[in-house]
Amino acid sequence: YYPETGSISYTTLSRFPPVKLLPPADRKRILVTGGAGFVGSHLVDRLMLLGHEVTVLDNFFTGSKTTVSHWVGHPNFEMVRHDVVEPFMIECDQIYHLACPASPPHYQFNAVKTMKTSFMGTLNMLGLAKRTKARFLISSTSEIYGDPEVHPQPEDYWGNVNPIGPRACYDEGKRVAETLTYGFHRQDGVDVRVVRIFNTYGPRMNPADGRVVSNFIVQALKGEDMTVYGDGTQTRSFQYIHDLIDGMIALMNSGETRPVNVGNPDEFTIGEFAELVRDIVEKVQDEYGIKRTRRVEIVYRPIPTDDPKQRRPDTTRAKQTLDWEPRWNVRMGLEEMVRYYKARMDEGSL
Ligand code: NAD
Ligand code: UDP
Repeated sequence: YYPETGSISYTTLSRFPPVKLLPPADRKRILVTGGAGFVGSHLVDRLMLLGHEVTVLDNFFTGSKTTVSHWVGHPNFEMVRHDVVEPFMIECDQIYHLACPASPPHYQFNAVKTMKTSFMGTLNMLGLAKRTKARFLISSTSEIYGDPEVHPQPEDYWGNVNPIGPRACYDEGKRVAETLTYGFHRQDGVDVRVVRIFNTYGPRMNPADGRVVSNFIVQALKGEDMTVYGDGTQTRSFQYIHDLIDGMIALMNSGETRPVNVGNPDEFTIGEFAELVRDIVEKVQDEYGIKRTRRVEIVYRPIPTDDPKQRRPDTTRAKQTLDWEPRWNVRMGLEEMVRYYKARMDEGSL
């Protein structure tokens, strides 16, 4: 899948995938905060394969060293344990600022810390961008639209967020992070990019993360009941990780300073989605000859407070300014992810 990476023969680096050999002028020094998390680790892979020098900053709250351990020892790669709430000094050309827990159970675990990470973390990284003149990209979220009254959501919709509810630490945290980003852009000329990411899934998502895709697949693979919250009529639109990484890198290297939605517009009710995941898990199990003692059931649990009722990105801007469109449909992506979790189950780590 990865783009053409050249065929440099690294005799001494043979344990690494072959990375592109860029002339020094084209090689960027790239800082990825949250680089040991789900999205960050895939971004790091792509940037390394493209031949850049990558430094990961992470406090390993929800991420893990193992997600990027395959790069440890590569001369283009560095990993630093650091909490972005504290300032950090480095020389760099681009900053992808991702550090922030993303799943509701994790970001609600310590709401004050989530807000500190969003505000102080973003302030510190913008300060770094200002000093080094690095281009700064922040991973914002569809959650800034809250429980949207406009559907699908274009970037100029201002959102409908409860400022004091249990999701506010994340939603309002990201909103203020965007405000800070445009403050530094207008006042200090920092070169900024803002990606509003819609629900994304794929391999390396922490199986205990609590988000719907990982929950459903793990439950179905283990033969446990699949838990739909509420009556299952709320909707989400799910994008596969490789499409997101394409969009983020395209945005970083574009001239677009306005926020850009990156997500897959295919919308499902959560009830339909549970059935789809169950079908795909059964298909993969059949391929491997795995016998089921019973069909897993879909059960209903209380809906969490402030759970948005609908969500679908309007991706017109991404198409027009980045020439970006999702290439993975949800069936293809889910099959890949089911195979990944099945492999983890087989090795006993699920
Ligand atoms: P994740 O939890 O897997 O990754 C977040 C990473 O940030 C982890 O490695 C974690 O240890 C690190 N981190 C958290 N707090 C930190 C701190 N104070 N200092 C340093 N590191 C810290 O989540 P993800 O899905 O990879 O999300 C990455 C980014 O993308 C987040 O900013 C998230 O808000 C955004 N996003 C993700 C989605 C999605 O569907 N995955 C959707 C919208 C936005
Ligand atoms: N959800 C569900 N069962 C689960 C986990 C989540 O029905 O086991 C629902 C959740 O209530 C929400 C949707 O799935 O309506 C997406 O939840 P997720 O936590 O993945 O993302 P977010 O709510 O942040 O979009």
